[in-house]
Amino acid sequence: MSHRIVIVGGGAGGLELATLLGNKAGKKGQAEITLVDANMTHLWKPRLHEVAAGVLNADVDELNYVAHAQRHHFKFIMGRMCNLDRGKKQLILEPHIEGNEEILPQRTIHYDTLVISIGSNTNDFGTKGASEHCIFLDKRAAAEAFHRKFLNEYLKASQDPSDESKHCNIAIVGAGATGVELAAELNHSAHELVDYGFDQIKPENLTITIIEAADRVLPVLSEKASAAILRQLKELNIQVLTNEMVTEITADGLHTKSGKFVPAFLKVWSAGIKAPEFLNGIAGLESNRINQLVVTNTLQTTRDENIFSFGDCAQCPRQDTDTPVPPRAASAHQQAKLLAKSLHRRLEGKDPLPFVYQDKGSLISLSKKGSVGNIMGNLSKDFTFEGKVARFMYITLYRMHQFTLHGVFRTLLLILRDRINRRASPTLKLH
Ligand SMILES: Cc1cc2nc3c(=O)[nH]c(=O)nc-3n(C[C@H](O)[C@H](O)[C@H](O)COP(=O)(O)OP(=O)(O)OC[C@H]3O[C@@H](n4cnc5c(N)ncnc54)[C@H](O)[C@@H]3O)c2cc1C
Repeated sequence: MSHRIVIVGGGAGGLELATLLGNKAGKKGQAEITLVDANMTHLWKPRLHEVAAGVLNADVDELNYVAHAQRHHFKFIMGRMCNLDRGKKQLILEPHIEGNEEILPQRTIHYDTLVISIGSNTNDFGTKGASEHCIFLDKRAAAEAFHRKFLNEYLKASQDPSDESKHCNIAIVGAGATGVELAAELNHSAHELVDYGFDQIKPENLTITIIEAADRVLPVLSEKASAAILRQLKELNIQVLTNEMVTEITADGLHTKSGKFVPAFLKVWSAGIKAPEFLNGIAGLESNRINQLVVTNTLQTTRDENIFSFGDCAQCPRQDTDTPVPPRAASAHQQAKLLAKSLHRRLEGKDPLPFVYQDKGSLISLSKKGSVGNIMGNLSKDFTFEGKVARFMYITLYRMHQFTLHGVFRTLLLILRDRINRRASPTLKLH
């Protein structure tokens, strides 16, 4: 029987790894590659804020795992991992239930090498009222739910016969990449909605407030990049409160430690991440306080060399610094490429390679309008730039993901499809 490599989680990192391994080891029959994911389709997570704002139709951009697996010589199993038996080298998938019907029973999957890349969830740090009243922008369903609620406010306003001016308040907790990018896209959507006749809520009456506990936006970037982002947010009329810790969230808004109250109809929490709870100490593996599996620089878990983990759900050491590799799509992309080589070497009885993180800076998208720029901040070089070049580089990260999945020709076709769709379809998803 050939070596069984099972990858759990087909996200930004896992799907790239399954594709790279399938194209080589799977195609040549050197190993049996299996990808397991809780969903039937993949949507690149960094685009979720675009889904929430309605500028991206997830139905158009999603990738079907079954079709992709067939094309790239790996097997796909739909299921949600819930446990692990290291002794028997089995992972356990929970039953798949829809409504009252059990579609699939609990199943076990055997592996010789296991890779866990199941990403992360939003971390609300136990803040009172957050789970009841906030949308966590970490799943496609949540992004779509946010979009519907946002659109419904405009629908209601359009049917309201009174002459009073209509307002909408949105609060975003966390001025990291997700919060900042969402705010800019929502501002953009507010202008587009007016163009579609939803002019009862004027763009200036859509109040977007970002609340951040640190003393500046994007605290992980350089001060120069952070200041440039703040300037552009102000130009977009987005309110930013820094040094404000959110202590409680109610149906009407957010309370901060300093005593402020921010009224908000829609509330988004995007202030931190944690790996899924069930990973905490799973089958005796080492995990950290945010449930991430602790891995060595070869991406092997510290207590089992047959289990690898990477992406948001793993704490991976970084060379020359105490802080681990950051939970970013760019990191997952680099790790997937390295791991594809390492697992191939393992099949030949060679040692896996060490992962060296290349910090290429961070690009923050501040919406699609040409007049709104993007910024690259790099702590080591403090190099900041904005505008269309930065926008192009931001999109490149997504195109690199597509390129790894589909190769040059199909990626070019997808770029063409996107261009045609932009001309042929509404610029905003209106349902
Ligand atoms: C709105 C937003 C904007 C972002 N913008 C950027 C950006 O501009 N640049 C950047 O570098 N990063 C960005 N990020 C972060 C980036 O999305 C993540 O770091 C990246 O997706 C992590 O990749 P991953 O493969 O570890 O996990 P994911 O891409 O989250 O994939 C995890 C996969 O595992 C599956 N899964 C989960 N649990 C289970 C289970 N129990 N069993 C089976 N399958 C499971 C999921 O269905 C999913 O397919 C952004 C994130 C968000 C939310």
